[in-house]
Amino acid sequence: HTQDFSVSTKSAHGKVGRVPVGIGRRRMRIVVTGGAGFVGSHLVDKLIGRGDEVIVIDNFFTGRKENVVHLFGNPRFELIRHDVVEPVLLEVDQIYHLACPASPTNVMGTLNMLGLAKRVGARFLLTSTSEVYGDPLQHPQKETYWGNVNPIGERSCYDEGKRTAETLTMDYHRGASVEVRIARIFNTYGPRMCLDDGRVVSNFVAQAIRKQPMTVYGDGKQTRSFQYVSDLVDGLVALMEGEHIGPFNLGNPGEFTMLELAEVVKDTIDPSATIEYKPNTADDPHMRKPDISKAKELLNWEPKIPLREGLPLMVNDFRNRILNQDEGKGA
Ligand code: NAD
Ligand code: UDP
Ligand code: UDP
Repeated sequence: HTQDFSVSTKSAHGKVGRVPVGIGRRRMRIVVTGGAGFVGSHLVDKLIGRGDEVIVIDNFFTGRKENVVHLFGNPRFELIRHDVVEPVLLEVDQIYHLACPASPTNVMGTLNMLGLAKRVGARFLLTSTSEVYGDPLQHPQKETYWGNVNPIGERSCYDEGKRTAETLTMDYHRGASVEVRIARIFNTYGPRMCLDDGRVVSNFVAQAIRKQPMTVYGDGKQTRSFQYVSDLVDGLVALMEGEHIGPFNLGNPGEFTMLELAEVVKDTIDPSATIEYKPNTADDPHMRKPDISKAKELLNWEPKIPLREGLPLMVNDFRNRILNQDEGKGA
C-alpha cells in the first residue's frame, strides 16, 4: 500500500543561472518564501553565503525584518513584502516555500508558488511537517506511514493544510512535470525562533530566563524530538540539490519527554528553575520521533547537534530579545 516517491528526476538545476560561482556551479536566483521567519532567515544566510541571489517573499505575519536586516545593502539580496496568497511574477531557478501560518492560507500560497514554478521551470521545495503524521500509531515515524490526523480538530487546519500542500505538490509534479522536493520537518529550535508563538522550546527558554515557572502541559510525558536549526538548513539544501523528490523526514531522532526537556533547560539556563503543570491542548500527539534512515541513505544527511549542545546556542539571542522586549514594555 505504501508509496515511495523517491524516483530520480531530470536536470540538476534550473535555467536562469548565468554567473559562475566557484568551480562547476552557476549562480542561481532563488526565492525563499517566509525568508524573514525563523528557519527561512537561516536558510537565506546559507544561500547568500555560498554566492547565490536570494529573493525573500514575506508578509511579516510571524517573521521580522530584524532577522534579515544584516543583509540589507547586499546586492544579491532582495526583500519583497508580499502575501503569497496573491499571485506573483518572478524569474527564478529554485523556490524554497516556507511561508505558512497555521491556516488554509498555506494551500493558496502553495498553489501560487507551484504555478510560478511551472511557468518558469523552477525547482520547488515544500517545507511540510511531522504534523502530517498526526497522533501517530507508528513509532518512530517513517515516510511510508500515512498518519493519524483528526480532520475536524483544533489543530487540523495546520495538519490538513500541509497534507493538502503535499498533494498539490505531487499533482504538479505528475501533471505538469514540475521538479519538486518535499521535506517533513520535525520540531526545530534555535536563535531567531519566534518568542511568543507558544512552542515548547521557546516557552521554556523564555520562562527560565524571566525567572518564571516552565509551563508543562498535561503530565509532561509526551515526547518530541528536537532539531537544531543549522542541521535542518543543511538538510533542506541537500534535498533541494539532490535527485530525490521525497518526502524526507528532517529531524533529530533524539527523543525527550517535556519533563526531560525542562530538565535540560534548567541545567542550561537556571538550576533553580521550576515547573508548573497546565492542562494540555486537544489532540496533542503523544509521541514523535523521526526515522531518518531514508535521508541518511539518499541525501547523505543526518543532524550533528544534540539538544544539550544546541540549546546554549539560542540562549544569548533569547536573552537579548527578551531584554529589549521587557525594556520596551517598561518604557
Ligand atoms: P516562522 O513563522 O518563523 O516563518 C514563517 C514565515 O512565513 C514568517 O516570516 C511569516 O511572516 C511568513 N508568512 C506567513 N504567511 C505568509 C504569507 N501568506 N505570505 C508571505 N509570507 C508569509 O516559522 P518557521 O518555524 O521558520 O517555519 C518555516 C516553515 O517550516 C513553515 O512552513 C513551517 O510550517 C515549517 N515547519 C517548521 C517547524 C519548526 O519546528 N520550526 C516544524 C515543521 C514544519
Ligand atoms: N501563479 C503565480 N505566478 C506565476 C504563475 C502562476 O503566482 O508566475 C499563480 C496563478 O495566479 C494561479 C496559481 O499560481 O493562481 C496556479 O497557476 P497555474 O498556472 O498552475 O494554474 P491556472 O492559472 O492555470 O489555474
Ligand atoms: N508544551 C508544553 N508547554 C508549553 C508549550 C508546549 O508542555 O509551554 C507541550 C505541548 O503540549 C506538546 C509539546 O510541548 O506536547 C510540543 O509543543 P509545540 O507546540 O512546541 O510543538 P508541536 O505540538 O507542534 O509538536
